[in-house]
Amino acid sequence: MFTETAIKTLSHYKTPFYYYDLALLKKTLETVNTESSKYNYHVHYAFKANTNARLIDIIKQYGLGADCVSGNEVKCAIENGFEASHIVFAGVGKNDDEINYALEKNIFCFNCESMQELDVINELAAKKNKVASIALRINPNVDAHTHKYITTGLEENKFGINPYEFETVIEKIKILPNLKLIGLHFHIGSQITDLSPYKKLCTRVNEINHFFLNKGFDLPVINVGGGIGINYHQPDKEAIIDFAAYFKVFHDFIELRKNQQLHFELGRAIIAQCGSLISRVLYIKNGINTNFAILDAGMTELIRPALYQAYHKIENISSDSSTTIKYDVVGPICESSDCFGKAVELPETKRGDLIAIRSAGAYGEVMSSRYNLRDEVRSYFSE
Ligand SMILES: *Cc1c(COP(=O)(O)O)cnc(C)c1O
Repeated sequence: MFTETAIKTLSHYKTPFYYYDLALLKKTLETVNTESSKYNYHVHYAFKANTNARLIDIIKQYGLGADCVSGNEVKCAIENGFEASHIVFAGVGKNDDEINYALEKNIFCFNCESMQELDVINELAAKKNKVASIALRINPNVDAHTHKYITTGLEENKFGINPYEFETVIEKIKILPNLKLIGLHFHIGSQITDLSPYKKLCTRVNEINHFFLNKGFDLPVINVGGGIGINYHQPDKEAIIDFAAYFKVFHDFIELRKNQQLHFELGRAIIAQCGSLISRVLYIKNGINTNFAILDAGMTELIRPALYQAYHKIENISSDSSTTIKYDVVGPICESSDCFGKAVELPETKRGDLIAIRSAGAYGEVMSSRYNLRDEVRSYFSE
């Protein structure tokens, strides 16, 4: 992925920084649009994956909607030119200010996650003489078989409304005049690398869709969320996931009525592969059993390995040594979890070498912090 010219350019920048391949982002978005438009599906970009203004601007140009999980994300989407009528707003804990802001902007849909939230949105909408369009975020009890911190569709998870609450929800919806139920929403988790959980999801969606129709709700919107995973092990071999296969699963297994639109909320699959965290080796520490390569980037720039035991491919992009050595690649932060990879095989590495931590475009820069009073992380772009 890194040409010699690119490496030369990168070597002039002060590390650490995020480096985004805009050509790859555009190609990914083109693929998403080609494959989703075969079935007239609607795709929203999950803002929480990355809100870097330059990237968001490109995503907007490809016509995606916005999937937001906070009031500030809704604001960010609107300020960056996304149409309010293409914004969906999820989250188990929307506060009154966030709801009020979204109501003022007339967003497309609130994805409601609890009974009490229905009452609150109804009350706030009434004060503004508005009717809020809502979808019920449903907990379908489908196991996404992913890391437990990013599994969201099980009964034990905090997200969504459970099927045993449906009767009560329906009674409530009928008597709340400032809510309009337009759809059903699902999101079962993230970094799902196998399509079978989605097949199960489709079966559950069909049952629930049918249940609501029987109760007199012919809902125009079915939103199946996002979560499709990427190949962290081979970022160059599979820079763009098989979106054709992904959308086809829904086409094959979901039963939509003529008036129903299918919506998606994709984050990682759109943005992850186009970003790398570029860092420099500060020190090499050779131990008896373990060699450490100590970088100038740490969990403050990329927290995924520390938080989710996530794997990222690590490359030394400036060494041409033919000897390979195993290193624990670590950051400078005062925590033992500040480790990007254990026993990583790299060409012999020395102080000053440039290290690329790949597939870091999603949940990387956006989760960076200033813990230890670190500098804010910078970003650069290749055209
Ligand atoms: C995080 C999130 C997404 C996007 O998940 P990805 O794994 O990045 O595709 C979609 N919908 C909701 C409600 C989310 O919370």
